[in-house]
Amino acid sequence: MDTQMLIGSIFDKGTETEEPILNPKTGATILNLPEASPAQIEAAVAAAEKAFVLWSRTTPAQRSGYLLKIADRIEAEAQEFAALEALNCGKPINAVLNDEIPAIVDCYRFFAGAVRSMPGVAAGEYLPGHTSMVRRDPIGIVASIAPWNYPLMMMAWKLAPAIGGGNTVVFKPSEQTPLTALKLAKILADVLPEGVVNVVLGRGDSVGNTLINHAKVNMISITGDVATGKKVLQAAAKSVKRTHLELGGKAPVIVFDDADLGAVVNGLRAFGYYNAGQDCTAACRIYAGRKIYDKLVADLSSAVSTIKYNRPDDTENEIGPLISRRQRDRVSSFVERASELKHIEITTGGKPGEGSGFFYQPTVVAGALQEDEIVRREVFGPVVSITRFSEVDEAVNWANDSDYGLASSVWTKDVSRAMATAARLQYGCTWINTHFMLTNEMPHGGVKQSGYGKDMSLYALEDYTAVRHVMVAHG
Ligand code: NAD
Repeated sequence: MDTQMLIGSIFDKGTETEEPILNPKTGATILNLPEASPAQIEAAVAAAEKAFVLWSRTTPAQRSGYLLKIADRIEAEAQEFAALEALNCGKPINAVLNDEIPAIVDCYRFFAGAVRSMPGVAAGEYLPGHTSMVRRDPIGIVASIAPWNYPLMMMAWKLAPAIGGGNTVVFKPSEQTPLTALKLAKILADVLPEGVVNVVLGRGDSVGNTLINHAKVNMISITGDVATGKKVLQAAAKSVKRTHLELGGKAPVIVFDDADLGAVVNGLRAFGYYNAGQDCTAACRIYAGRKIYDKLVADLSSAVSTIKYNRPDDTENEIGPLISRRQRDRVSSFVERASELKHIEITTGGKPGEGSGFFYQPTVVAGALQEDEIVRREVFGPVVSITRFSEVDEAVNWANDSDYGLASSVWTKDVSRAMATAARLQYGCTWINTHFMLTNEMPHGGVKQSGYGKDMSLYALEDYTAVRHVMVAHG
């Protein structure tokens, strides 16, 4: 197992406090990893600064070649990456191998193509005798900070557009899930010029905080909690750094009476509980029409009660545990508080799973009201609430009545109603008759307190480059 950070071309262990890395399926410690010292963080930023001189001058075709090599190497070691991610996150290995790794490989390949074909305004003589052109140039050193729910995928979403755009990076994985980042660091050191990507370990309030406040860092890209995003903004304000924030979500799902009930139930069973609900786009806040409500609650509860987890044969598992005891206790306390309300019924689940792992039963909370905490706050666990609505306006207003604005979905057979509703939702994404589906060509990112800046797609490449106007006077 790779345990060393990557600083320039040097692999080194951290020298500060050790952080236990746990197996969420058992609660056992896999190993302890020390975090980076201030001097090591300084060295990583210095390596990124040095590398920027040459890397920022490489052609799109050259950077594309590097991205393709990274994709090939991950693909060649898919099994090993999947096993490590499954170990560190508790995910079913088949979910990592069949869903996540292909999307990760495709992300590097997408940006390999995208960097060679960035669109823009035509160069031209907009003032007589002066030719103008727009350049998209790299920003500089990017501090990239990732969460624990999809460690290798978040690394791909951050690294591919950043280095594709000609920037250099100091990457910090979550202190809870650094193992695949350390494995990828070996490949990156092999493939990329020295210092283009550096990987440092440590907690948010120590290593993360030092990175985001570093004077030489030009951009901060973070995926995490809203509270963390706010700290990033405060740090960025000191020296006016560019920021890219992918924060939380609480996705509303509007189910109209005419929706295909079977499709809704299958969709919610999959997209409300995938990754044990530890997903900022999880279909967790259902608004169901008056007529479909009872049947939806009954059918969804019985479907959710069949979700397989915590089976000794991992190939049978559909979802894994939560990432930590703390996260499981947090989820548990949300459900306990909800269950104390008279109008709420927990129709399936509602308890921690058996054993020493951090499992929580897939749970349906029926009868929830708009003002309930379970409807308003991000639970980040396998818990879906259902609320009954009477009219379209009520559903849309409730859906929009949230601090978050990342993802949403609308379920109906009526195309006009679907389009009209989608147009009114204040979310970075609205799916119609599906949920959760992502593709590297399309942008992912929020509005409101879910943050701003897009991952994936050409928009991400725009975020990680600066628009510059160059004008030539020629008479
Ligand atoms: P978190 O904010 O606690 O941590 C995220 C990362 O930020 C970690 O690497 C952490 O070490 C670092 N960090 C924490 N405090 C910091 C600080 N003061 N300075 C610098 N870095 C700091 O979030 P988490 O618990 O790892 O992840 C779960 C959250 O992330 C959820 O709220 C979830 O919705 C959100 N998330 C959002 C998206 C998205 O695309 N919008 C994707 C995944 C997760």
